[in-house]
Amino acid sequence: MNRRDRRRAEARGPTLDELTLLAVAKAIKAESGVTYHRIVDPRREDGRVTFGLAFPQRKAIHAPEGCTPKDLYLLAHECGHVALKHNHQKPRHVREYEAEMWAHAALQRNGIAVPDDSTADAMLNVFFAISDAVERGQFGRRAKRLSAEAAEWSGWNFHVQCQRAREDTSYLPHST
Ligand SMILES: [Zn+2]
Repeated sequence: MNRRDRRRAEARGPTLDELTLLAVAKAIKAESGVTYHRIVDPRREDGRVTFGLAFPQRKAIHAPEGCTPKDLYLLAHECGHVALKHNHQKPRHVREYEAEMWAHAALQRNGIAVPDDSTADAMLNVFFAISDAVERGQFGRRAKRLSAEAAEWSGWNFHVQCQRAREDTSYLPHST
């Protein structure tokens, strides 16, 4: 949506679909125990596709309002961190994986299909969090079962398999 379309949309007020999504956003916040929501618009954050923060101890989130399915997913992800009372005792890739699972279930429970793009972004989020943990030598040391699940779900295991296959072919004799 460009700036002029957005201004028009704002002048027009929310549509019925947006009202449905906002009602679901409210329900998801209530389910998660979130009591403070600062609305941030990811489209206005220069160069950043996704934007949200969670403060589980304060039951607070910074997230989009939730009037598109994708924004609703981002909101549900932050609500997930609050609902699951996440803190630094869990590795980050496990927290992210759990928040993505919570967000998927929250939308489904409220009758909203998770957009494919949101699932793809969620998988990448977990994938990169695992990649960070691997780089720091911290992957799979704690929360082994959840780490294994996250590695499977995010495509990390597939990535590792592909890398191994590529390394193996380097041992093959070159025929040319
Ligand atoms: Zn998160």
